[in-house]
Amino acid sequence: MKWEEIEHELISLRKELHKYPELSNKEKKTAERILAYAEKYKPDEIITDIGGNGLAVIFNSNQEGSTVLIRCELDALPIEEENEFDYKSQVEGVSHKCGHDGHMAIVSGLIPLLSENKIDKGKVVLLYQPAEETGEGAEQILSDEKFKNINPDYVFALHNLPGFEKNKIIIKENEFASASKGLIIKLFGKTSHAAEPEKGVTPSLAVSELIQRLVELPQKNKFDEFTLVTIIHAKIGERAFGTTPGYAELMATLRSYKNEDMNELQKKAEKIIDEVSLQNNLKYKIEYVEEFPSTVNDKFCVEVIQKSAEENYLPIEEIKNPFRWSEDFGHFTQKYKGALFGLGSGVDQPQLHNPDYDFPDEIILTGTKMFYSIVKNVLED
Ligand SMILES: [Zn+2]
Ligand SMILES: [Zn+2]
Repeated sequence: MKWEEIEHELISLRKELHKYPELSNKEKKTAERILAYAEKYKPDEIITDIGGNGLAVIFNSNQEGSTVLIRCELDALPIEEENEFDYKSQVEGVSHKCGHDGHMAIVSGLIPLLSENKIDKGKVVLLYQPAEETGEGAEQILSDEKFKNINPDYVFALHNLPGFEKNKIIIKENEFASASKGLIIKLFGKTSHAAEPEKGVTPSLAVSELIQRLVELPQKNKFDEFTLVTIIHAKIGERAFGTTPGYAELMATLRSYKNEDMNELQKKAEKIIDEVSLQNNLKYKIEYVEEFPSTVNDKFCVEVIQKSAEENYLPIEEIKNPFRWSEDFGHFTQKYKGALFGLGSGVDQPQLHNPDYDFPDEIILTGTKMFYSIVKNVLED
């Protein structure tokens, strides 16, 4: 197949995926569309329903060698699309605003390539992972029995990056994307009449103190590198003007470049919650949700990405600091040697998760060529 033919196919696949987006862990039809595309090219093996709605398309040389896994994401976001093109999202309130439609098209480009050009060593696994946006999907995959046999030697993924020129490759060794986790604090006191707050136990002052102390935590303590606490939600009592509240909830996102700092940040936040609750006679409960470890890029894998970018005459930018956002690909790099790299999607491109964002089709083939080079470079090493 000629590059133009592949590109043509991938663009129409991308637009089809864009038109019918599905939320995290509801990506059944999306996986079916990919399955239909993959089956045309008769890969050696296809594993369906892996880690939920996940799909693995496998090319196996049946010869010794490394197993390289390339991962992309199936899910869209609960955001109403503001664009008016003919492939506009047909699902109310849901759209591909992170470019996962583009990532899927990029990885799917490897299907015709690897079916026409058989690998002579090792194995290539194209993994379409569910529920990236909620931080659940990677773990679902990693804990699935069906994944046990795959056991990759190397894992790779990319994310398109608005704000960087189209087709630029963005790399960094070690931490590439931050660790983050959602913290939910539940405070239990006792309601009383609004005229007699002293007869109950109200959490309102504790909430205000917690907001202050949690936000200041990164500045008031020593961490190795960047840490951040963002308050994202607070609720005290009900809309009842006759009642002093007896219950409150506070939610914050903890964030850090390094996994070690995240552990420290968590410990220190818990100590503050314990102190403030005790002082205010409150009982409390702590929960964590949407946990993302930082994505840590392996040295060899970054070298492979660099070499692959050079082979494709692509500009490379090495960033100094990790990105502040998180990627659940961090669960993969915690277990396997791997790397996530950025693919510039345009300086003027709307930012990820913006309602007017749309993945630029001009970078699909660049992504496919990058992964194809990466696969060849790793297998030939
Ligand atoms: Zn996203
Ligand atoms: Zn994304």
